[in-house]
Amino acid sequence: MRSLVLFLALGSALAQDYDLLLKGGHVIDGRSRISAVQDVAIQGGRIAAVAPGISPAAARKVIDVAGLYVTPGLVDIHVHVYAGTGQRNSYAGDNSVYPDGHTLRSGVTTVVDAGSSGWRDFPDFKDKVIDRSKTRVLALLNIVGHGMRGPQVEDNLADMDAKATAEQALRYKDTVVGIKTAHYGGPEWTPVERAVEAGKLASIPVMVDFGQFRPERPFEQLVLKKLRPGDIYTHTYLDRVPMLDDQNRVRPYLFEARRRGVLFDVGHGGGSFLWRQAAHAVRQKFVPDSISTDLHITSMNAGMKDMLNVMSKFLSLGMPLDDVVLRSTSNPARQIKRDELGHLSPGALADVAVLRLVSGDFGFVDVYGARLRGSQKLVCELTLRDGKILYDLNGISRQDWDKLGRYGPQGDSRWDGTISRDPAHRPAAPTKR
Ligand SMILES: [Zn+2]
Repeated sequence: MRSLVLFLALGSALAQDYDLLLKGGHVIDGRSRISAVQDVAIQGGRIAAVAPGISPAAARKVIDVAGLYVTPGLVDIHVHVYAGTGQRNSYAGDNSVYPDGHTLRSGVTTVVDAGSSGWRDFPDFKDKVIDRSKTRVLALLNIVGHGMRGPQVEDNLADMDAKATAEQALRYKDTVVGIKTAHYGGPEWTPVERAVEAGKLASIPVMVDFGQFRPERPFEQLVLKKLRPGDIYTHTYLDRVPMLDDQNRVRPYLFEARRRGVLFDVGHGGGSFLWRQAAHAVRQKFVPDSISTDLHITSMNAGMKDMLNVMSKFLSLGMPLDDVVLRSTSNPARQIKRDELGHLSPGALADVAVLRLVSGDFGFVDVYGARLRGSQKLVCELTLRDGKILYDLNGISRQDWDKLGRYGPQGDSRWDGTISRDPAHRPAAPTKR
């Protein structure tokens, strides 16, 4: 009987086809402590196996990724993607970008909008962007009910309602992963305190952009007293952060804050990453817990550019690639308590990035326009979300055209491209000769 069960189990294992096999790449998965050449098999939108030497015969489709790095889909926990409201000069409007045009081409499969919306306008954000995106979009709710709609709105203490914010967070707990406070100009601690109160009520972390740094509310106090373990300070390498002493040594309180469990996120953006801070800090091992972009319409066209460019900056500062990937995948996923993301364990959602590390003469620019030269840069070759190929730079998942027979929408079964629903944009079926 036992041997029969074994036989049946073996039989079903042999009969089981994988949908897709990524063959021969160097897998980097920090959570599983893998950094080695292995194959990744995907079945039903999930990771089925990660191991060396998986037979190509077991998969319906095989992609040769030798010489490339296979990582979990990147998780960018600081972006602004509440586009489409039509509001000028606003992160809840024209300063935001639609995610799919920027994320997938950089290997990013999950983003967290960092407080562009508050509890009042979150349902609109969800309808306009979150529910329509191929990228997995999660959100931090701004403690300001009206979200990031400019200084008057964001400085309004009367619109910082911890209870209403927490209730909305719990109502949308599949999507809302934290609370954000940002851009505050006044001397009070109220925005931070209300954000933490909302975070406690909803059992989710708080992310802080400290706005104007004022003597009435010292930064040291924020990270040593006000934030809880697991809360996140973003914009770590901003010039206003009191990071270095006059000998360029990292101030001890920052290591103390880290020991307390406060997390430090990059949040590069258009004004928050200086080589003058980052180069000294990273050299002294004050490295970010998570790497993030603060993607918006300004940062993407200035020194930030995209997630891979920010990751490449840390490579250029000497951080090992495995570490850079860890801080762009598993670490940020854990920070937002989404343990199902950011790794390639069997059973995990098959969000995967296939990256190429290229060598050359590169320059990386900070928010002051200062350059750091580098010799390595990450490029995205392939992005999968839930096992589906959503971006393929060089067509490595495709066949050469002259090896295919008749192809096209009505053609043979090897066609697996995305066909536009609009007939005008469909490739014409080749005419028979
Ligand atoms: Zn931001």
